Amino acid sequence: MLDSVRIVLVNTSDCRNIGSAARAMKTMGLTELYLVDPIELPNGQAQALAAGATDVLANAKVVKTLEDAVEDCGLVVGTSARSRTLPWPMLEPRTCGEKMVAEGQKYPVALVFGRESSGLTNEELQLCHFHVQIPANPEYSSLNLAMAVQTLSYEVRMAFLASENKQYENNDIEDYPVVEETERMFEHFEQALKATGFIVPSHPGLVMTKLRRFINRARPDSKEVKMWRGILSSVEKSAKK
Ligand code: SAH
Repeated sequence: MLDSVRIVLVNTSDCRNIGSAARAMKTMGLTELYLVDPIELPNGQAQALAAGATDVLANAKVVKTLEDAVEDCGLVVGTSARSRTLPWPMLEPRTCGEKMVAEGQKYPVALVFGRESSGLTNEELQLCHFHVQIPANPEYSSLNLAMAVQTLSYEVRMAFLASENKQYENNDIEDYPVVEETERMFEHFEQALKATGFIVPSHPGLVMTKLRRFINRARPDSKEVKMWRGILSSVEKSAKK
């Protein structure tokens, strides 16, 4: 089960943090590490900090964009040290661990970590279903990247150990679409709303962001996403007439 929990590090600048993150993961039983456009590829220093987890480091997948790292995931949770201007559904670290373990039985799930200097961009945060914040000291809430990985991986492990005692009922979990399907739906929304004139290409405003937030809050299942695609096709058709 822990194999379906993916740790994604976005645009990390110091590869020693990647090594420490690999170690943090392995101590908690996690192995799937994705590196999105790392500034510095793991070198000897990263290996030294990975210690007994050099296998996790060696197997890390390097991809170009966050979407590449999560397109087959059914649940994506982004981390943030501070609250953002755009509020998004939040999870407590504990609930986050439980959700990862429960949904990880159905499809890959991802925990996304940001840059040391500036965290995740709004666009990256909007690709996530939920955000999680470690409720640290409000006067100094920014953990070192690898320590944030450690803390949230620990919660995944606690939830995993609890689930071994209490078998999760697979049937309780909806059949949620993976990111690739929802991203295609959002592209379709944008295309259809341009066709109707609701989105003016030269002044798109925040329509897509607000729509994303609304749809994300509803968390449509796969059948509902298919229904939306049908609705949008019919909207496009009548806009053409
Ligand atoms: N200055 C950045 C903080 C980056 S810390 C900012 O203001 O966003 C590097 C990464 O560690 C963050 O992107 C996040 O993934 C993780 N992190 C650090 N502190 C965290 C916290 N309190 N809760 C959740 N994630 C945290």
